[in-house]
Amino acid sequence: MTETAILDHYVGGSAWAGASTRTGDVYNPALGTVQKHVRLATASDVSDAVAVAVDAASAWRNASIAKRQQVMFAFRELLNARKDDLAAILTAEHGKVISDALGEIARGMEVVEFACGVGHLTKGAYSENASTGIDVYSLRQPLGVVGIISPFNFPAMVPLWFFSIAIAAGNAVVLKPSEKDPTAANWMAELFSEAGLPDGVFNVVHGDKESVDALLSHPDVAAISFVGSTPIAKYVYETATSHGKRVQALGGAKNHMLVLPDADLDLAADAAVNAGFGSAGERCMAVSVVLAVDSVADALVAKVSERMATLRTGDGTRGCDMGPLITKVHRDKVASYIDVAASDGATVVVDGRGVDIDGDPNGFWLGPTLIDKVPTSSTVYTDEIFGPVLSIVRVEGYEEGLDIINASRYGNGTAIFTNDGGAARRFQREVSVGMIGINVPIPVPVAYHSFGGWKASLFGDAKAYGPHGFDFYTAEKAVTSRWLDPSHGGLNLGFPQHD
Ligand code: NAD
Repeated sequence: MTETAILDHYVGGSAWAGASTRTGDVYNPALGTVQKHVRLATASDVSDAVAVAVDAASAWRNASIAKRQQVMFAFRELLNARKDDLAAILTAEHGKVISDALGEIARGMEVVEFACGVGHLTKGAYSENASTGIDVYSLRQPLGVVGIISPFNFPAMVPLWFFSIAIAAGNAVVLKPSEKDPTAANWMAELFSEAGLPDGVFNVVHGDKESVDALLSHPDVAAISFVGSTPIAKYVYETATSHGKRVQALGGAKNHMLVLPDADLDLAADAAVNAGFGSAGERCMAVSVVLAVDSVADALVAKVSERMATLRTGDGTRGCDMGPLITKVHRDKVASYIDVAASDGATVVVDGRGVDIDGDPNGFWLGPTLIDKVPTSSTVYTDEIFGPVLSIVRVEGYEEGLDIINASRYGNGTAIFTNDGGAARRFQREVSVGMIGINVPIPVPVAYHSFGGWKASLFGDAKAYGPHGFDFYTAEKAVTSRWLDPSHGGLNLGFPQHD
């Protein structure tokens, strides 16, 4: 693709330009240059795509479970065979290193594998002879057209979380990926077509707020799955529910890792570095705050700093540990917290602004940064920084650590590091967070559980993927049936009672 190429939407099984004349820039963050443009749809482009999806949905809901499973299996096989191509796209547009891009794809593929077994999820309940001669059973049916709006930080995995299950359940999809790294969405849609998915079942519309708003209010879109920052998640939830839609809107995070004095400090230091700096801290499950109990805090900070000194920051195609940030604006914003930390009385132990880079000097770089003794009143603590800045907050013990976590407005993920089973068990009962790790730093549940946080990290009742995902994309019906035997009960206008 040349520098001025424009990425189209993907609608009805092929690339589609739509009517909009607006485009956005897509950067290679490791080079700092614009590598392509992406179309930014109008509301009427979105309407056209939804109309295509509506047509396709009516045939797809009638495709047998066996047929849908065959297509899912074929998609899984193609995805696995060509994952290196997708990983290269992720690295070129997001910046994450190739090994991390492959990890993202692997976790997304687990949801495709879960969706291959959708037949198991469709089984309703059946109560024979609930009343004399009457059977009652429940079944779940697809919703029709669902909209998916995804963030920049997982351009493959987050869409895979949603569209795999939505499509396996018999829906048609309109996906609006992040305009910052949009190519993966088209690549996956084309692959699905190759796997045998009928045209129009999976559509990709690129855009910004205009296209999101059009999806949120379109009368033919039955449900919205959203992942992104908390203010937009709240807006999406409130707007789409006011238009009568079913909505799950996953928001931002500030994940704490509590390290008790009896923890294996080497394990904890490895975990803090891996979870703090993997994907340059641009993960909603990144550890951004280590709550270190005073008696081991100095030792832990030393171990974390030692490990940070071994990390190579640079171009994701060169075998580095950590890539660039997504945009220059975001890099500058993340870096600005280092000065805030110093003026708020924290200690900057490692300043990532001076890092040696294995890559182009124009990339959006910031090296791993460690800040100790961060006051919880500082915006370094309260804001979701979403970059390679790891804060240490020192606490007296378990109780203070727990109170800090529970006072946070977010509740996405958290972890405790300890060898005390009783403390770990208390933690899992007492902490107000949706996903908990015990000596595991990034506790993203496997595909057959469900993913989602509490508080300002999730608006709506349904988590992503797993059983929640299937329930979200289907509506339950309860059927009460009687096959008449020769006797007839006669007229009775009273409310039905059981006999
Ligand atoms: P974002 O909120 O800026 O954008 C997310 C999506 O919303 C994009 O598709 C974008 O085009 C759209 N959007 C942006 N501004 C909008 C507006 N004003 N009106 C309507 N739509 C708008 O998020 P991001 O920067 O792409 O992603 C990073 C954020 O996502 C972080 O806060 C991170 O924690 C969060 N995230 C959460 C999870 C989770 O599972 N909870 C997972 C991944 C990322």
